[in-house]
Amino acid sequence: MTQPLGEHSSPDAPDRSPAGVSPRRRKRRGRGLICLRDGCRRGRAGGQRYCTLVCRRLSDELSAAQRLAEAIGPNEATAKLRTAAIEAADAWTAYTQLSDDLRSTAHSVGLSDEQWAALAYGIG
Ligand SMILES: [Zn+2]
Repeated sequence: MTQPLGEHSSPDAPDRSPAGVSPRRRKRRGRGLICLRDGCRRGRAGGQRYCTLVCRRLSDELSAAQRLAEAIGPNEATAKLRTAAIEAADAWTAYTQLSDDLRSTAHSVGLSDEQWAALAYGIG
C-alpha cells in the first residue's frame, strides 16, 4: 500500500504527530499560536487548539481513520477512509489559503476587515 501524496505524508514537515499522540504546541515565531491541524498554518486564539471548528473536526476524523486502520488492520476500506480524510483536510487547506489570498486582495481594493467579515461570513 502506498501512502497518499499530500502535505500529510511529507517526511520533512515539522510538527507532525502520529495519530494518538498529542500534537506539540505550535507557535509561530513572533506572531502567536498556530492551528494544531497538520497542514494548517492559520492563527488560533489562546485557549483554542485549532483555528476553526472545521480544522478540529478534520483532525478528529483523520485520527479516527488512523485508529480504525490500526484496530481493523490494513485493508482497502481503511486505506480509502484514511485517504479520504487526508484529501478532505488538504482540500480545506487549499480553500483557506485561497480565502486568505482573497482577503488580501479585498484589502488591496479598499475593503475593511469589517466589510470582509460581512461579505465572507455574514457578520456585521
Ligand atoms: Zn486550522
